[in-house]
Formats: sequence, C-alpha cells, structure tokens
Amino acid sequence: MQRMAVCTNFGNCETADKQEKVPIAQETICPICGQELIPVSDTKLVLFKKVGLVFILVLLIGGGCRVLTQKHLMVRMFIPD
Ligand SMILES: [Zn+2]
Repeated sequence: MQRMAVCTNFGNCETADKQEKVPIAQETICPICGQELIPVSDTKLVLFKKVGLVFILVLLIGGGCRVLTQKHLMVRMFIPD
C-alpha cells in the first residue's frame, strides 16, 4: 500500500495550502517547497493528541469561564446599560 504524506509548510507551499496528499517515495520531502513531509498516519495521531489536549483545556477553561460568566451576568442584572 502506498503511504501518503502531507506538507505542513502552510502559507509558503501550494501542496500544504491545498492539503494535498503526496505519495511517499524514497524521500519524504515536499516536491514543491522541499520541506520534510509528515506521513498521514502521523498527522492523524498528532491531530488526535491536539484535539484531546484542546478538549481537556476547554473543559478546564470552560469550568472557569462558567463561573466568570455567571458573575458577569449577575453584575449586568444590577447595572443596567
Ligand atoms: Zn510543501
């Protein structure tokens, strides 16, 4: 099975901007910009880790924000616009 990779040189490389998958040959270097390509399976893993981290952060921050929002709402109830 042909392994695929993506370029992550966003903004500088057409392949990265279009999120085109490039088949990995001997070299894992982008044919357009020359930057090292990231194998698709790895990017999924990286994305999964990032999503997991963001999810945890959102839970933590969300908990804090909810308290702040409730305080904010209470303040607005007492101070009309
Ligand atoms: Zn590239």
